[in-house]
Amino acid sequence: MKKQLALLGGKPIFDHQSEPDELFHWPIITEEDEQNCLDVIRRNKFSGTDITLAFQEEFAAWQGRKYALAFTNGTMSLSAAMFAVGVGMGDEIICPTKTYWGTVSQAINFGASAVFCNINERLSMDPDDLERCIGPRTKAIMVVHYFGYPADMDAIMPIARKHGLKVIEDVSHAHGALYKGRKVGTFGDCAAMSMMSWKAFAAGELGMLVTDDQKIYERALAYGHYERNNPKNITDPKLSKYPHIALGGVKGRANQLCCTLALGQLHHFDERMAEVNKAMQYFCDGIEDIQGLHPIRPEKGSGSTMGAWYLPQGTYRPGELGGLSSGRFAEAVRAETNGLHCWEGGNFCLHTHEFFKSFDFYGIGKPSRIAFADRDVREMDAACAPSEKMYCVSLPPFKKYMPEHIDRYIEAYRTVAENYEQLITENDQLNGGRWYGSENK
Ligand SMILES: *Cc1c(COP(=O)(O)O)cnc(C)c1O
Repeated sequence: MKKQLALLGGKPIFDHQSEPDELFHWPIITEEDEQNCLDVIRRNKFSGTDITLAFQEEFAAWQGRKYALAFTNGTMSLSAAMFAVGVGMGDEIICPTKTYWGTVSQAINFGASAVFCNINERLSMDPDDLERCIGPRTKAIMVVHYFGYPADMDAIMPIARKHGLKVIEDVSHAHGALYKGRKVGTFGDCAAMSMMSWKAFAAGELGMLVTDDQKIYERALAYGHYERNNPKNITDPKLSKYPHIALGGVKGRANQLCCTLALGQLHHFDERMAEVNKAMQYFCDGIEDIQGLHPIRPEKGSGSTMGAWYLPQGTYRPGELGGLSSGRFAEAVRAETNGLHCWEGGNFCLHTHEFFKSFDFYGIGKPSRIAFADRDVREMDAACAPSEKMYCVSLPPFKKYMPEHIDRYIEAYRTVAENYEQLITENDQLNGGRWYGSENK
């Protein structure tokens, strides 16, 4: 449809602000959830473990793994995963460069070095770039199912096994997602994930680690759960020799207010995820044929799914829209919808952050990322330049299947793409992402 775009003075197509709240509302909290929280507060049960243990057991069954362990947050659960698989001083850990810092920055707690791997157009770890990253000290690969899109495990796992590497999956964006019919979080030696308030599985501030491996489970437990670090729970004498202390020097166990919330979320997760998927597939079908923006989702019939579609994205190809930047495209969508939070770029590539170049955590006058490494892995960062040019624009994160409303958003995205020529300006600049927190200045 030809139209003067709202960003350039035209009338917005519709008013996002007056759309029904339930279209985007998340997480869904029931009266039962509220009662359960009040119960924890009134009976002062924050620090116990009865609710946590019940949640862990149900979550493990839902995830399809033997063990599940609840942590204070996702960052902590990923730290525990690193300790659990044996990441230590001088080791290297491979991670896709486009992810949240909480996937891998914890490597400094173990004297280990992060090595960054390229991503592809679907913002997913590029398995063809993995072997470039592997060196004699590589210990583990951190796989991220970024924005819910399942990473290519059929390509990644054989490479890991061939080189004897551990695999940790970061499932923070992809709870419940399937890769070729199998749940993500069941491929690696272990998986860890965030359940903080904005995630697709949202339970306040919470993290979860899952594994089938008893040794990994025991190490993760001993790392941050001091009260369960005792011979009753831990068979490994190398760990149980130090009972009643958290071996990682951190208090990592979850608080039960979050576990009771999580248990409530778990009971409804599959049905809510199905609703989100129906809504998102409908939206994506509606914009499938436009130029410039291409929904990131697995092919239909592949058996792979997006879980509950955490922050859905489209691959953005500026070349199809006369070089228009993803930022200006998103701005035009915001104007056309009068305020949808449409944004561009995802996370900045981690290899571009100064933290990974010079920060001296140990105070020994050496950048921590390479303090104990036998090669300067920073020199490998230049190879990740192509990832800085993988652009994306966010899609509306629908939570309810309401086609008559979703149609308006389809029209807004289509209209911007079809009238992109109006948006071309001279000083338009492509933006590869954002550092979270930087927008709160
Ligand atoms: C949110 C997130 C984390 C960190 O989880 P927190 O619960 O915020 O500590 C780790 N990895 C990814 C990919 C995330 O999005």
